[in-house]
Order: sequence, then structure tokens, then C-alpha cells
Amino acid sequence: MRVVVTGGAGFIGANLVRALLTRPEVDQVRVVDNLSTGSKANLAGTGAVLLEGSILEPALLDEAFTGADAVVHLAAPPSVPRSVADPLASHHANATGTLEVLEAARRAGGLYVAAASSSSVYGANRELPKRETMRTAPMSPYAVSKLATEAYLAAFHHCYGLGVLPLRFFNVFGPLQPAGHAYAAVVPAFLDAALAGRPLTVHGYGGQSRDFTYVGAVTQVIAEAVVRRVVHALGHPVEVAHTEPRPGDVRDSQADDSRLRALFPDIRPVPLREGLERTAEWFRTL
Ligand code: NAD
Repeated sequence: MRVVVTGGAGFIGANLVRALLTRPEVDQVRVVDNLSTGSKANLAGTGAVLLEGSILEPALLDEAFTGADAVVHLAAPPSVPRSVADPLASHHANATGTLEVLEAARRAGGLYVAAASSSSVYGANRELPKRETMRTAPMSPYAVSKLATEAYLAAFHHCYGLGVLPLRFFNVFGPLQPAGHAYAAVVPAFLDAALAGRPLTVHGYGGQSRDFTYVGAVTQVIAEAVVRRVVHALGHPVEVAHTEPRPGDVRDSQADDSRLRALFPDIRPVPLREGLERTAEWFRTL
């Protein structure tokens, strides 16, 4: 399986590239990144193929998506304060850029697209804890553009049947996240200052609260979602043809296996999904 990661030279992207390449199902990872906040060094030794350029370049996306099975779309100028300083850059990358990625996924035959949104879409909605069904109330250009990312994903699913997965990340932290720049996230900024013996800079009173997510958990979920989706689709959409019910067929059939389990307590049933995977594997060898 081939996976494209936009923004793959960045913090979450470069961690994801590593997580994907540990999976036996993944043969190749291609990265599309303009290296605006990411770096080639983040990908050193991973074996990922870097296509340097912007998601706003359709020809580059076509090149990257040819022969691919899925796309993880992470490319974005990250952070709320960056978008306050440059709202158009946020809009171009997250609204127009996402649309370009989705169009390219459609041109490539309908690739599955997982994309990064952000907890910032809840904005002025103060209810805690946040749930997916809650009202969104963006307070920054970044949050608006991330909501556009989500909305475009949903629209492409409804209009063109594209498989999509919008993910609202909550303050991700971990290795490869840079400190030492004006828009650094709080965990690397605090760690960097503490290790260098500098005071920690706190904006305001310090009464803010955030949910922090270790990057390893985020990349595990994305890698699992992408692999599961593509493997289960057997690499291509499956058509279903409905016909008349067959005479004599029962409609529902379900076994109570308590007696069998009592008689053979050491036998562990194979879950349906695993059994199907093994069976599909056997069919592939025919
Ligand atoms: P990052 O800056 O390390 O990674 C973003 C990557 O996108 C960089 O490598 C950058 O060079 C690239 N990029 C930016 N604009 C591009 C363009 N037009 N074309 C191609 N590449 C481009 O940031 P990150 O923390 O790894 O964030 C990854 C994604 O997750 C972003 O979409 C971000 O908005 C989202 N997100 C991150 C967090 C977090 O806590 N880190 C929280 C919520 C959402």
C-alpha cells in the first residue's frame, strides 16, 4: 500500500511517516511539503519520498497521488497566532489547499483522505469536555479555516462518495516538535526554557487548561485508520447487487455458543474481522 502524507516533513507528519513505515501493509510513503515550517532533516533515514512543493500546486499533487491508496492531509501553517498575523495564508492552505487535495484525490480515482482539523473549532463554546456533536464557534482565522477543511471533507463524501476522516487534534506534543520560534507550542517552549535554565513565559494569569495528546497516540490512530480502511476495501471499491430473496432462506441466524464454550473452554474464537482478513489473504494466493 502507498500512502501520501501532506505536511509530512513537519512535527506530526514526520512522526506519522515513521509509524506508517513500521506497518507491514505499507510499502511506500510519499511526502508533499513546501518545507515552510517542516524540514528535510525530520525525514532523514525514514525512506520516505519527498516531493517538495505546495498543496496549492495541482500538478505536484497529481504526481504524488498517482498509484497511491490513501492520503493523510496535514499540510498547514499551524497555530492560532500565525493565522491572526496572516489570515489569508491560513485560508489559502486550509480551505483552498484542502479543496486542491480533495480534487486531486478524486482525479486519482477516489483516494481515501484523512485530514487534520483542530480542537480550536469549538472556540467560544465553553462547555467541557468537548464532544464531536457540540456546536462549533471559531474565534480565529485558523479555526475558521480548519472548519472549512472539515466541511470540504464532508461535502466530498456526500457529493462524490470519497472516503474521508476529519480528525480534531487537541494540543499534540512529543519528539520533533520545535521550540525556539515565536509560535512554538507550550510543551516544547516550556521544556526548552526549563532545560536551558530560562524562566517559563506564561501568557496571562496561567489559568488556561488544555488537553494534551502525545504524538505517538495520534500517529497510531491515523496509521491504523488508514491501513484498516485500505486493507478492508481490498484496495478497490466493492459493488453490491441486490436481488430477490431466495425461497427457503432464513432471515436471521445467531448461535448461543455457551454450551460449546463450556465443553471446549480452551478454544478461543477467532474474531470475525480477523477471520475475514485471513480468508481474504488466502483468496489472494489463488
Ligand atoms: P508543522 O508545522 O510541524 O507541520 C505542518 C507541515 O505542513 C510543515 O512541514 C510545513 O512545511 C507544511 N506545509 C505548510 N503549508 C504547506 C503547503 N501550502 N504545502 C505543503 N506543505 C505545507 O505542524 P504540526 O503540529 O505537525 O501540524 C500538522 C497538522 O496538524 C496541521 O494541519 C495542524 O494545523 C494540525 N494540528 C496540530 C496540532 C498540534 O498540537 N500540533 C493541533 C491541532 C491541529
